[in-house]
Parts: sequence; structure tokens; C-alpha cells
Amino acid sequence: MSWHASVLTLFPEIFPGPLGASLVGDALQRGLWSLETRQIRDHGLGRHRSVDDTPAGGGPGMVMRADVVAAALDAAIPGDDARPRLLMSPRGAPLTQKIARELAATPGIVVVCGRFEGVDERVIEARGLREVSIGDFILAGGEVAAMALIEACVRLLPGVMGKQASGEEESFENGLLEYPHYTRPRDWEGRAIPDVLTSGDHGRIAAWRRAEARRLTRERRPDLLKPKRGEE
Ligand code: SAH
Repeated sequence: MSWHASVLTLFPEIFPGPLGASLVGDALQRGLWSLETRQIRDHGLGRHRSVDDTPAGGGPGMVMRADVVAAALDAAIPGDDARPRLLMSPRGAPLTQKIARELAATPGIVVVCGRFEGVDERVIEARGLREVSIGDFILAGGEVAAMALIEACVRLLPGVMGKQASGEEESFENGLLEYPHYTRPRDWEGRAIPDVLTSGDHGRIAAWRRAEARRLTRERRPDLLKPKRGEE
């Protein structure tokens, strides 16, 4: 069985969107992973298939109902389905390459996309949803966030990336940002490719790339160089 993503959303028509293109889309066509979207509104209540209601305690906006989201989840997950269940949420654990690797190693994921003000807290607890954020900003809904998460996972699946090596040197994989890239022409608008890269000396090239990766990380993301809590 290939890696299987089930996405619970009020806007299934947005998918596959970017997940249907290029590397990740080719992998979908080749059956290296599969995608199922499920319309949460199919489990909505009444004639209008209502999915949301006003927040308890007052305040602006609407909240997705626990009973509706739970019904959509229960219909999506057969009893023996061991896939992790996630909720895209700005309150969640920040998405990292480490989390993408971890999720790519599972049989797949079940993802709930929030809308409005979010989801009733009780369904998060009752169905054990793991909250994941794609950054410290607020989107209008979880769909774009779910696509980012799925794309990050799928490109790590075996056979998806052409050159197996191209996954290992990238930003974050070794705790550093990646070194700068260059390609032809050798001179462009008065800017030359650094000599070392055209020297043919593989030892010097590797050393230059390591030094550049460290320099860029120091300048732009010094937080990546600090020991993580628990690693000191
Ligand atoms: N009221 C909420 C934001 C709701 S945004 C708050 O202040 O925390 C509506 C939905 O968009 C959320 O339920 C979530 O599913 C999705 N979303 C918004 N920003 C996100 C982010 N940074 N990462 C992941 N999902 C996000």
C-alpha cells in the first residue's frame, strides 16, 4: 500500500492543486502516494448541512462543530487505520523537516482543515488530533497548510526524488541552511561563478560549501545553531 493522505475539508475542489504538478504530481500518477478528499459538509446538520455555530462565551466568527467534524473523521477512518490524525492549526507544533520525515515514514496521514475561527476543542481531544502549524501567521483555512505538509512529506517518499542524494544536502537536513547554487553562464552581468566551483577540486568545493552553509546560517538563522532544549 502506498502512502495515503485523507484530507477533510469544506473545499475539496481546491485539491490536488499544486499537489498535482511536477515531482509530487508525477508521483501521484505513478501511484507512489494517493490522495482522498472528504467533504466535511456531507456530515453537516439539517437541510442546510450546517457545519458551524456561534462561539460559546460570545465573540466574533463561527466555530466548526465537534459532532460534525467527528462524524467526518469517523467515516474517513476504518477501525484498523493506524495513520496519524492531524489538525492544521496556528496553535500547533511548527512544521519542520523532522516532522515531515516522521510522517513520511507512516502509512500516511488524515488531515482536518479548519475554517472560520477554528474547531471545537472537544473533537481535538476526543479524536486525539495532533495540531501542526506551518508558521506564525494566520491563513483563512487549513487547506494551503495541509498542501504544504503533504508536499513536504511526499517528496521524501522512496522513489519520488530522482536523485536519492538530492534530499540529503538540502536546507535543514543537517541543521544548516543550504550553500548558494550557480549554473551557466560562467559570467553573467559582470558576476562570475566563484572560482572554486569551477576548479574541479572536489575537496575544496565541499569545504567551500560547508563554510558558506555555516556563514548563511549564522547570518540568517542563528537559532538553528543553538542547541535545542534537552540537547545542551
Ligand atoms: N482563530 C484562529 C485562527 C483560525 S484560521 C486562531 O487565532 O488561532 C482558520 C483555520 O485556518 C484554522 O482552523 C486552521 O485550520 C487554518 N490555519 C490558519 N493559519 C494556519 C497556520 N499558520 N498553520 C496551519 N493552519 C492554519
